[in-house]
Amino acid sequence: MTSQLEIRKCSVCDTVIEVLESCGAEITCCGRPMDAMSAKCFAAGRQRHTPIVEQLDDGIRVTVGRMPHLMSHDHFIQWIELTANGRNYRQFLKPGMLPQAFFNVPTGESGEVQVRVMCKQDGLWSATPMEAQEHHLVLIDNDSWGHDAS
Ligand SMILES: [Zn+2]
Ligand SMILES: [Zn+2]
Repeated sequence: MTSQLEIRKCSVCDTVIEVLESCGAEITCCGRPMDAMSAKCFAAGRQRHTPIVEQLDDGIRVTVGRMPHLMSHDHFIQWIELTANGRNYRQFLKPGMLPQAFFNVPTGESGEVQVRVMCKQDGLWSATPMEAQEHHLVLIDNDSWGHDAS
């Protein structure tokens, strides 16, 4: 079953898609079903990929890693996505940039946020409720994307 905003990847050509609407049918690429990418929360390398979510006066700032993540050509953060109150924001990044994004989320509308981060080498990561709590944000339940507990 495919859910809204699920990320899928083709194991043959590495195409990545985000699902906006699904009829429930299999999504294929290169003649094969596309695998759902589950956001990693507990895997090794977690510290480097943890999105730090900060509420600022005029919006929300997300930085990847307590020590900022590498931004080299073969290992960098490709995008940072924030979902809040039915709005979906995404900042695409390039090697050499800071692993950081600012989203102009209207004040008072940022109570429930979901943050996901895509690393070219290490895949998809999400912020956990605990990390968000440090900054007084509430994350929506992201179990629908599944967690890789390995
Ligand atoms: Zn493909
Ligand atoms: Zn990485």
